[in-house]
Amino acid sequence: MTPASASRTLTGRLERRLDWHDLGTCREDGRDPAMWEADYGKKARQARALCWLHCPVRVRCLMYTLEQEAGDLPRYRFGVAGGLNKRERAELDRGLRERREARTEKAAA
Ligand code: SF4
Repeated sequence: MTPASASRTLTGRLERRLDWHDLGTCREDGRDPAMWEADYGKKARQARALCWLHCPVRVRCLMYTLEQEAGDLPRYRFGVAGGLNKRERAELDRGLRERREARTEKAAA
């Protein structure tokens, strides 16, 4: 085993051991989880700010949430996750799907 493959394996093992969501700012002691359940208003704005300015796992959270919600209708989404509210995630999901479809069509042509 080369040092590089050993480190990849170790990294993989560490990744599996860590529950990234536990590292989220929303999981810190004293945080009100209800802040992340709102889509709009003061609580949602505060939640978004905490995601964007303080959360070390924001990108991972956003990618995970988009994956979980993929194809869902906007009405089945709720709250702030990955720094975006349900409408923003729905728009991002739609944009990503359109780009994927355009790429697939281009490759098939
Ligand atoms: S990005 Fe926001 S919702 Fe996601 S883990 Fe971080 S604080 Fe929580």
